[in-house]
Amino acid sequence: MDNEIEKIVNEIREDIKQIKSDVKNLTDETSREYVQDLIDNVKEESEWTCDYCGGNMMIVEYDYVGANGNHLACELREEIAAEEAGVDVKASKESN
Ligand SMILES: [Zn+2]
Repeated sequence: MDNEIEKIVNEIREDIKQIKSDVKNLTDETSREYVQDLIDNVKEESEWTCDYCGGNMMIVEYDYVGANGNHLACELREEIAAEEAGVDVKASKESN
C-alpha cells in the first residue's frame, strides 16, 4: 500500500472528526447544513469503492482509475465482457 495515500486518508478521517466537533458548536442553521454537506462529501470519498470488485479506490493511483470511478482494469473487463455479450455499454449507461 502507498504510505503517502494512506496518510492522506488518515488526514481526511481526522478532518471529519474536527468538522464534526465544529458542527456541534454551530448555531446558525445554514452553516450547520453546509458543514454537514462537507462531512457527507468527505465520507463519500473515504468510502469510495470499486463497483465491480469492492476494492478501496482511495488507495488507487489516479492513472488506474477508470472513467466511472472504478478500477480501470475492472471497467475494461466489464466493457469487454459486455461487448462480447453484444451489449452497447455506452447506450445502456445513458438510458439509466
Ligand atoms: Zn475493481
